[in-house]
Amino acid sequence: MPQRPYIVGNWKMHGTRAMLSEARAIDRAAQRHMKVEVALAPPYTLVHAVHREVEQIGVGAQDCHPAEGGAHTGDISAAMLADAGAKFVILGHSERRVDHGESNELVHAKAKAALDAGLRVIMCCGESDKVRTSGKAEKFVMDQLRASLPAMDDAGERLSIAYEPIWAIGTGKAATSEDVAQMHGAIRKLLIDMFGEEQGSEVRILYGGSVKPDNARELLGAAEVGGALVGGASLTADSFMGIALAAADLQEG
Ligand code: PEP
Repeated sequence: MPQRPYIVGNWKMHGTRAMLSEARAIDRAAQRHMKVEVALAPPYTLVHAVHREVEQIGVGAQDCHPAEGGAHTGDISAAMLADAGAKFVILGHSERRVDHGESNELVHAKAKAALDAGLRVIMCCGESDKVRTSGKAEKFVMDQLRASLPAMDDAGERLSIAYEPIWAIGTGKAATSEDVAQMHGAIRKLLIDMFGEEQGSEVRILYGGSVKPDNARELLGAAEVGGALVGGASLTADSFMGIALAAADLQEG
């Protein structure tokens, strides 16, 4: 059975406790749109607070360390996130790959740690403007995913992919629905190759990069798009739920 569209907000390094009211508003709205699965990844400092405030939406984090614990000043383990109420973690986001020099190998180790701690994983991938212009975007993304994804036998349930072309993140310049459909089709083939037909065809492939209420319908309607990972537009309940509503409308036909 196809899964519900998955609309996930990535608050990045935004949000203090004053933002809990937005999380509550998102949660209330999500209760009216049960055909869509809505989730939020606030900064670490708000994971537990958001978890306590909401009833319907999923709560997750934006990164984790690959070790279970130890002398890693400033880091957070997957088990700590689970203890704080997180159900999933976003890994391999381009801002971490670029700002923190995260390699595919490190992202792979983080994903293994997250799965071992019982979390679901949203694995990000995406090419730079330079790679796209060179015509090698598809190969780049396939190589990135092959190297970042660990073996697992329940990928359909516990894994989502977020295709986020770097040039579309926070720029207001979303990819075209044709480009998205083409890349998502290639990702689907790779998932079936890695995890088998049954599991690989269940994994939701989210699109991320300047998704807004006014372009959501078109992007979410593209082939093989199972949801969206949303940055800027997830910071207010109004714009975020505008995107979730577009997903709900598409579900209803
Ligand atoms: C993101 O960083 O995951 C993202 C998609 O950001 P934005 O929606 O702001 O482009």
